[in-house]
Amino acid sequence: MENIIKMHNGNYIKIVNSKNELPFENINIKKIKLMKALKKQKIIFLIDFNEIEKKEYKKILKKLLLVKNIIMKIKKEIGLKENGQKIVAYIINFDENNKNQKEFISAIDAIFYNTKNERYNYIYDTVCNYLDNKFYGKNLCDFQNDKCGEKRNTSCTNGCCHHFKHKALGPLSKLVPCEYLNKENYTCDAKCLPCKLFTCDYLRRKGIKFKIKDILLLDVFFNSIQKYFIKYMVFTQKEKIIKTLIRI
Ligand code: SF4
Ligand code: SF4
Repeated sequence: MENIIKMHNGNYIKIVNSKNELPFENINIKKIKLMKALKKQKIIFLIDFNEIEKKEYKKILKKLLLVKNIIMKIKKEIGLKENGQKIVAYIINFDENNKNQKEFISAIDAIFYNTKNERYNYIYDTVCNYLDNKFYGKNLCDFQNDKCGEKRNTSCTNGCCHHFKHKALGPLSKLVPCEYLNKENYTCDAKCLPCKLFTCDYLRRKGIKFKIKDILLLDVFFNSIQKYFIKYMVFTQKEKIIKTLIRI
């Protein structure tokens, strides 16, 4: 197993197998206290997966984000240089096959972005890739002759990428293909996360459903109003969604 995890901005997390390999000064993120952290000469975080349960992830990550933001504001440096790499955290008792632990590390990466814009872009792209991978090459929507499983017995093609052109006209409004639907490869040019999270009755009957609270990156870093927009801003381009999330 590679014993180093590269994050963005030249930051690294080092994986160690025993406590003897840890630096003398470290701050266990489970027990982090702002005042104690500020008194430290060097700020290096420790993630011990033997001590952290999944139900504690959200609380720990939120606190770490707060502490890290304050440390950055007062311009105190985080990390230790080792072989030219800046190690900001050490991990012990890591299981590389554990999906929850990997998601936790992805959230740690999100914390170390300096601006909301960068952090939200990272979270947005990571969750989009995660959802795309769930569908890629699997034809979960059971498309046959351009008709998906849900719309099989209708005249509707292109799945659910349709919306009403003039909503104000009510029943007289016309259902048109979404303007962001790429007609050549049937992908979404808008990179719309709310659309990717949507699952219709057909998919839900197959057991496929995505809840924001089950996706750690979305659950930790967004408040309830932001989550509302993440769920309902369908038919919308990524840039507009990110701008909305930053404004709230
Ligand atoms: S999510 Fe449902 S309605 Fe949309 S394309 Fe898939 S099967 Fe069709
Ligand atoms: S924005 Fe939504 S409806 Fe439009 S193409 Fe993308 S996924 Fe389909």
